[in-house]
Amino acid sequence: MMLKRKEKTGEIPSLGMYIHVPFCSTTCDFCAFYQERPSKKGFDLFFNGLEREIEHFSQNRSFSTIFIGGGTPGLLNSEQLERLGGLIHSQNLSDPLEWSIEIAPSEISIEKLETLTKAGVNRISLGVQTFHPQLMKELGRMHEVETALQAYSMIRKVGFSSVNLDLIFGIPGQTLEMWQEDLAHAVDLQPDHLSTYCLTFEEDTALFIKLSKGKVKLDPEREITFYEKAWDFLPAHGYQQYEVSNFAKDGHICQHNLNTWAMNDWIGFGPSAATQFNGIRRKNFANLEKWAQQWNQAKGVEFEEFEQLNAAGLAHDTITFGLRMNRGISLNGIARKFDLPLACFKPVESFLDQLQNEGLVEKNDFWRLNKRGRILADAVAREMPVLS
Ligand code: SF4
Repeated sequence: MMLKRKEKTGEIPSLGMYIHVPFCSTTCDFCAFYQERPSKKGFDLFFNGLEREIEHFSQNRSFSTIFIGGGTPGLLNSEQLERLGGLIHSQNLSDPLEWSIEIAPSEISIEKLETLTKAGVNRISLGVQTFHPQLMKELGRMHEVETALQAYSMIRKVGFSSVNLDLIFGIPGQTLEMWQEDLAHAVDLQPDHLSTYCLTFEEDTALFIKLSKGKVKLDPEREITFYEKAWDFLPAHGYQQYEVSNFAKDGHICQHNLNTWAMNDWIGFGPSAATQFNGIRRKNFANLEKWAQQWNQAKGVEFEEFEQLNAAGLAHDTITFGLRMNRGISLNGIARKFDLPLACFKPVESFLDQLQNEGLVEKNDFWRLNKRGRILADAVAREMPVLS
């Protein structure tokens, strides 16, 4: 079935822009993202490649959300951030626009923050991870707790409409009391949004090596208590949960995330960035030189991964991501969005009925995972039938 960017309703869904800035001074022990050590040559390759890539895909498209991630975008100096802002402004940007950037506490300065506000950035995501120094060491993070607090206060001083703090739980040596203290400390700071992630042991990371050597152990039971602590504590303190790992005060839900989870389109720029656009899902080369060099060649653009999507596949992904959200999903709505007959959803509906009987999902107008179901969200996604 052909995919149409313009939906049956005539409404044009939001289009996101993601920019991957691939530089980090050191590698955190849990990190599996593509990154390079910063160097003059690397920055030149990055900016030259980005300029060409943006030019190549620029066709007067209107972006409604922007997310600059990494890597460590905050490693760029003010001049480079200004240059990046200029490249983004060469595009058609909608109004209102949500423009986020991820920042590591050790890279912040008032000068950089002022450059970002001038460019139009209105949302900062600060990678705090934990307020316990010994846990910070376990993660191999470079910053001190005090640095994170100073960074937060600078962000508030310069003024951004929305500030997110990232926290991690399930760190080796972390007790439930320590997690409760991290949550309480975060709430005391009154950010607008909180993301709470369970530490994952990705292959080829320093933590994974410790795990394979038996130096740290997985403890899924303990992880469940950590999840539940956040799900009870944060809503009781004014942060409504809207997804398994995300909580926001009124009016501060991350629109870029919502757009992605609804399987609307986004275009990713920079090495390793993923794109979903016009029925194609693809990933740029996770190699700065290889990614940058191809923009100087006449033979056309290549990708590390490339997949043609169909409406049934996109509907399936909308269901699995949508179930992770507290709002849940409407099968009728998804059928309309992807122009599919309701009959295609029969296997999914039977599976959801079965989950309801097992006490994992609830249904009124929308299907949604309950607390027990959210603990099993990944398993539910794996088992979700394909649309027939
Ligand atoms: S700063 Fe972020 S991207 Fe860089 S190594 Fe640490 S977790 Fe990975």
